[in-house]
Amino acid sequence: MHINLLGARVDAVDLAGAVERVAAFVATGRPHQVITLNPEILYRAQQEPELLALINRADLVTADGIGIVWAAKVAGTPVPGRVTGIDLMLALVSRAAREGWRIFLLGAAPGVAEEAARRLKEKHPGLVVAGTQHGYFKPAPVTTGTGETGVTEWDVVEQIRAAQPDLLFVALGAPKQEKFIARHKQALGVPVAMGVGGSFDVIAG
Ligand code: UDP
Repeated sequence: MHINLLGARVDAVDLAGAVERVAAFVATGRPHQVITLNPEILYRAQQEPELLALINRADLVTADGIGIVWAAKVAGTPVPGRVTGIDLMLALVSRAAREGWRIFLLGAAPGVAEEAARRLKEKHPGLVVAGTQHGYFKPAPVTTGTGETGVTEWDVVEQIRAAQPDLLFVALGAPKQEKFIARHKQALGVPVAMGVGGSFDVIAG
């Protein structure tokens, strides 16, 4: 079941419900986008119809923020509670370790995703990390002969596709991460991709 809040679809799920939805997405093998919707993004979507449309094309949208939970209640269509990016990520990582789902961490400054992966594997010895990549790559491919090197967005997409993860966590900040996922969802072919904001920095400590 989902509700409508300022034109955006929000699913009436709690953390456990969101994890079950994700498990069902993984089982299909087809690409899905999960968004934890915070008030800043919902506000911004009011001015940006494309962002609102992107939210409404997502496969699962959780209420990330007490303001969203409160607004849903006032609108007479309550949601069970708040589901934040980091809470959902940590719950999914735990489930991934049990299920054998492969995870990929994209984003944050160089070294942070690796350190986050190391700490997650320490906590969940069975966890399979299919790959990591920092979030400061070039937005478009370099086609000129300038001798410029460095990872481009297309290299990143190819790297993730080749690693064949089941879950992709993208920490580029909102809504950059949501736009990245929407833009490359089909090319990536990852069953579940979600934006997690500053979560890698938190996990890496
Ligand atoms: N980031 C990145 N590439 C960028 C911009 C940001 O990898 O081009 C990372 C940044 O290093 C940080 C995260 O994205 O780890 C953004 O965290 P923030 O808490 O600002 O995100 P929010 O929670 O506001 O979405």
